[in-house]
Amino acid sequence: MILSGKRALVTGSTSGIGLAVARSLKGEGAEVMLSGFGAPEDIAALCEELDARHLPGDLSRREGVEALMAAVGPVDILVNNAGIQHVAPIEEFPPEKWDQIIALNLTAAFETSRLAVPHMKQAGWGRIINIASAHSLTASPFKAAYVAAKHGLAGLTKTLALELATHGVTANCISPGYVWTPLVENQIPDTMKARGMTRDEVISEVLLLRQPTKQFVQPEDIGAMVVFLCRSEAANVTGSNISMDGGWTAE
Ligand code: NAD
Repeated sequence: MILSGKRALVTGSTSGIGLAVARSLKGEGAEVMLSGFGAPEDIAALCEELDARHLPGDLSRREGVEALMAAVGPVDILVNNAGIQHVAPIEEFPPEKWDQIIALNLTAAFETSRLAVPHMKQAGWGRIINIASAHSLTASPFKAAYVAAKHGLAGLTKTLALELATHGVTANCISPGYVWTPLVENQIPDTMKARGMTRDEVISEVLLLRQPTKQFVQPEDIGAMVVFLCRSEAANVTGSNISMDGGWTAE
């Protein structure tokens, strides 16, 4: 097991991609710490399954991130994954949704990174992996805040990579296309409304339209990529934005 002895924090790991990433890291022997919302009994079951601690806290608030990072202690592998979405035309986009999305999808990654880096530098080894999106490289209408936050996350990642390059610490983005998770399922009703479409039309004509493979990406595949980025063979993969989008951004 290549990650024995490493401590990993995966934000937003009570669901979807983050949970799959946590399972992959645990599968390679890392000690995993979970974060995110959910029913107490579901979270307890995940903690038991992964022999993990769950750190509560709202990461869209600076105090929430600071409390979580203090409770976590030193982290060798930091996966910034927690994220939310809102779909609306710009003139109807609620400003409070903009603030919330920028806070969680972008600012929280800055906050966790600034607090995790001192230990990584001291240890001479670390991995920061930001779950960005195809929307860090390209845009879609009605997703102003999400696209802005993900482009920002890609920029933050490159800056971290340059600052940490001589310390054994890498920083990369993984940018999935559409992955079938609650985040995607929950945006279907608003997309139906914004575009005047049925559910099936949203799936085939919006979600999978730009994904040339016509398949959703599997959360487990993202977990496998995270594990690869933690391997010694990936020591020189830094500052990259790795697309896992079925060819979407090749167009
Ligand atoms: P999800 O809704 O299944 O999971 C989101 C996780 O974040 C949950 O654990 C949730 O509890 C947690 N979370 C939400 N708000 C939080 C807050 N304020 N503080 C702490 N935790 C919070 O979503 P997902 O699809 O697994 O998405 C995970 C990441 O992957 C997001 O950053 C998303 O933008 C990105 N992504 C998803 C897709 C996709 O198609 N699903 C595509 C590209 C990128």
